[in-house]
Amino acid sequence: MPKLKPSTSAECVKVVVRCRPLDEKEIRDGHERIVDMDVNKGTITIHNPKGSNSEPPRNFTFDAVYDWNSKQRDLYDETFRDLVQSVIEGFNGTIFAYGQTGTGKTFTMQGPKNDPELRGVIPNSFDHIFQHIARTQNQQYLIRASYLEIYQEEIRDLLAKDHTKRLELKERPDTGVYVKDLSSFVTKSGKEIEHVMNVGNQNRAVGATDMNEHSSRSHAIFIITIECSTEDDEGENHIRVGRLNLVDLAGSERQSKTGATGTRLKEATKINLSLSALCNVISALVDGKSTHIPYRDAKLTRLLQDSLGGNAKTVMVANIGPASYNYDESLSTLRYANRAKSIKNKPKINEDPKDALLREFQEEIARLKAHLQKKGGPKKGKGGKKKRRHRETADGEIISESDDESDEEGEEGGGGDDEEVYMKEQQEKLEKQKEAILSNQSMLQVEKDRLLNEVHDREEKLNKEKQARDALAVKIKAMESKLLVGGKNIVDHTNEQQRALEQRRREISDQKKREREIQQKLEEREEKAVEMEEGFQSLQQEVEIKTKKLKKLFAKLQATKQEIADIQEEHSKERQELEQTQMELTRDLKLKMLIIENFIPPEEKVKLQNRARYNEDEDQWDLIPLANKR
Ligand code: ADP
Ligand code: MG
Repeated sequence: MPKLKPSTSAECVKVVVRCRPLDEKEIRDGHERIVDMDVNKGTITIHNPKGSNSEPPRNFTFDAVYDWNSKQRDLYDETFRDLVQSVIEGFNGTIFAYGQTGTGKTFTMQGPKNDPELRGVIPNSFDHIFQHIARTQNQQYLIRASYLEIYQEEIRDLLAKDHTKRLELKERPDTGVYVKDLSSFVTKSGKEIEHVMNVGNQNRAVGATDMNEHSSRSHAIFIITIECSTEDDEGENHIRVGRLNLVDLAGSERQSKTGATGTRLKEATKINLSLSALCNVISALVDGKSTHIPYRDAKLTRLLQDSLGGNAKTVMVANIGPASYNYDESLSTLRYANRAKSIKNKPKINEDPKDALLREFQEEIARLKAHLQKKGGPKKGKGGKKKRRHRETADGEIISESDDESDEEGEEGGGGDDEEVYMKEQQEKLEKQKEAILSNQSMLQVEKDRLLNEVHDREEKLNKEKQARDALAVKIKAMESKLLVGGKNIVDHTNEQQRALEQRRREISDQKKREREIQQKLEEREEKAVEMEEGFQSLQQEVEIKTKKLKKLFAKLQATKQEIADIQEEHSKERQELEQTQMELTRDLKLKMLIIENFIPPEEKVKLQNRARYNEDEDQWDLIPLANKR
């Protein structure tokens, strides 16, 4: 593999839109499709079904758009493969699926179970990663997976035994934000990591009364950490660590809060907190004037800070539905996606981080190997064998000799065959001693029994030693098996033909990508050309060109006016909801005040107030224990 230079140039968040097909029910109910897409140009047009005839449709351009005929595989090859490849090379990467519930976020990220054609990004990335490792040489990889969900601003570990336990976010100056005590599983194959994903998915459903509602209100993040160790020319190991966040966000639809009180109101205010924080972060990032980016407002944005204006590579998939009744939500999704296009990240390779697990593994294996040698074993080379043979033939003081031997240090770690030979020799030796004692006529029975007992003890000791060595060897093997080395413990089973086919498919998707970029550039230029056309050959021509220009500008004006109206409407809706929430919260607060005034003596209240401290991380008030009060 060529040496990679750490890249520090800025690159934009890549944004693609995917529109699912009309579903059976929508067709049955006669719903109209209001979305048009030009996949070759990466453009999308959406018509307002309630708008007047003069209202122009809305147009958007994205890095790519995928219509109802799009194939999972094409999305992967064209849009996600490069990002996953970068993670293999040591960058951090994030893939978001954003959109209204029921538009295909989970379909895109996971895909329906048991259909290989419909595998989503997550399982496709498994294949990609493990196949890549199988095809590389001279590199050690360590792959592990974690799976968490954020539900009502609580982080839950979907792989832990107790997945209802809430986890905390912590921050370290060197590695940034992380989830404390989040479990992770080292996986050795695509099959193993897929199993991890399935377990997490099952846990996600457990406890949810309505899975649909649960998934529409929670964010699921599957995290793959890829560590790779390469030896440089001087024989020194370098480790690169890439982290891939695969995020299936909560539904972006407006949560109706009216009518909720008490706990339900509190829940309602927290449901979309993370999502609205995400939107606020995006707005602040693209605004250009904001000096403060509100990452800290929610768990999601804190966790994914890297991916939004940070050092990661990011792809956002905006999912929409095609039907007329989805117009408001689809438009709002497209607007957000459109803004996200201008977020700039500065991707950077993570080289030799302090907390690389792979390094720990390498060191632990080396330590265990040294320990195995210490435990004694065959001396390599002729000298050792001769010495043993010599001892075997010696009579009389065999016992002390063999005692000595158990303290000897081997020169190399437990090699399988030598090991067995050595153990066999030891056993044979003990057998011979036994025979010698039994056949010795001149010895007293008492003396014989004592010696036999001693031999027996030594046999037991030898067995124990063997067991310990075996256990150690098994442990070393198990650890080594987790460090994947292409061609050794992970083998690529695809044949030449399949590889050629894959290669071809990749070339085609690259080609498509390039063509789309060229189309988009061309279009931009044409637009500019119309505006700049100055020389006119005749009055007639001048009128024509100016009319064309006027029409274009007028359309732009209309679109902008529409945009303003949309934004105003959205704001007023949001405002109404906030006012409603505030009203209900105030009512709630008044009740609590009433209780306090009437049931808690004023001096107790002051005491409690003095002990209360606000915990930013947990977003709650804590009472300082009495003893620590200052
Ligand atoms: P979300 O996760 O956004 O709520 P889902 O992924 O559950 O939405 O999709 C809702 C339904 O639409 C599912 O039945 C899914 O199979 C179907 N669906 C979504 N996208 C597509 C697509 N591109 N092609 C075919 N069916 C799709
Ligand atoms: Mg879903």
